[in-house]
Order: sequence, then C-alpha cells, then structure tokens
Amino acid sequence: MHEFSVMDSLMRLILEHAKAGGIARVTRVRMVVGRLRGLDLRQLRGCFEILAEDTVAEGAELDIEAVAPAGCCRDCGEEFDIPDYTLRCPHCGGGQIDITRGRELHLASFDGTREPAAAAGQ
Ligand SMILES: [Zn+2]
Repeated sequence: MHEFSVMDSLMRLILEHAKAGGIARVTRVRMVVGRLRGLDLRQLRGCFEILAEDTVAEGAELDIEAVAPAGCCRDCGEEFDIPDYTLRCPHCGGGQIDITRGRELHLASFDGTREPAAAAGQ
C-alpha cells in the first residue's frame, strides 16, 4: 500500500523533529498532497492513526491540504488548472505542458507541546 509507505516516511520525519525539539506530544500535523499523486486521503488518515499509536503523535490531528493540479504551456506560456488530467493547453491547444502544481507531497508543519500527555488535564 503506497499510502502506508508515504505516511511511514512522514511519521519518521515528525518523530525525528519532535525529538530534536523536545516535543513530548504532537497535537496537530499539516501535510500537503498534490492530487496528481493519486493518494487516497482517507487511507492516509488511517495510516497516520495506526503509525501514531504509542508515539508522541498519538491522537494528533491531521490536516491534509490537497493541491489541485495546474500546468503551464510551453508554447504560449498560458497557466491553467488541470481539472480532468487532460494535458492540453486550453488557450492554444498545445500538448507540451509543464506541471506546476499537483505533485506536492510533504510535511508542512506540526504543533506540539513540551508537556507529556499524562500531565494534560491536571
Ligand atoms: Zn498554449
């Protein structure tokens, strides 16, 4: 499952940063996913929950920003959204398109506290 390996790498990154920053509990994670990645966002969330179990990220909220694809025509320089994955310029009909958006896949940021989970609610 591709979603699992993506989230596994992301989680490693989060835990690494959390450890380096002295974060005892991660509360919110923001990631950016381009739609051209073909990832199932619901599956990503499921994998996140599984991978977060028994780590400082357990119970953290996951915000996923899905980026709609866009391209730029090499012939006329027109920039346009690609709603249906058709790689053809709507302006001049050219087929030489550079993808400018929609392939993103990265951790944007995360929030955390230095208080351990056990101390919350006291
Ligand atoms: Zn064009």
